[in-house]
Amino acid sequence: MTENSPLVFKYADIKAEGGLNVKLSPSPELYADAFDSRTTLKRIDLELDFSVGGDSILLEGKVSAELQLECSRCADPVTRVFEDSFDEVYPDTVECIDAREVVRETAGLLAPIKVLCSETCKGRCLVCGINRNKQTCSCKTDKTSPFEALKGLRVEDRKKPGNKI
Ligand SMILES: [Zn+2]
Ligand SMILES: [Zn+2]
Repeated sequence: MTENSPLVFKYADIKAEGGLNVKLSPSPELYADAFDSRTTLKRIDLELDFSVGGDSILLEGKVSAELQLECSRCADPVTRVFEDSFDEVYPDTVECIDAREVVRETAGLLAPIKVLCSETCKGRCLVCGINRNKQTCSCKTDKTSPFEALKGLRVEDRKKPGNKI
């Protein structure tokens, strides 16, 4: 255990001070392993607020992280800031308050399952793979799409006179 970490605090020090509020921005490399890709986390800002109770200390933390993700439709990089908070209670039987793990867990859960570069992202052409937000191609994706073909069939079936369901 690295006692020198800026996220490890002496219980007695905080109690003596009657509380503590710190803002810090640790190196993103320290939390890179909380994400699927080591390049996801670009910046992390923390606010830690310690309140002293009778026989415990309450830590209320805010984690704000800039993440570089991939657009779920076109796979272009999307950089956005996500935030979440946590709280944790430490009994006065502990010597140190180590906030590293709870920060890592909170940060790791910030990445959404899906993210879009824009609500109107056109995605990539299924035939040639170009990014349709930036280029146009002449591929006939409508006719080759299995879903479009299926839609056509259903409409025709319904239109047929005397079609029994
Ligand atoms: Zn996109
Ligand atoms: Zn194409």
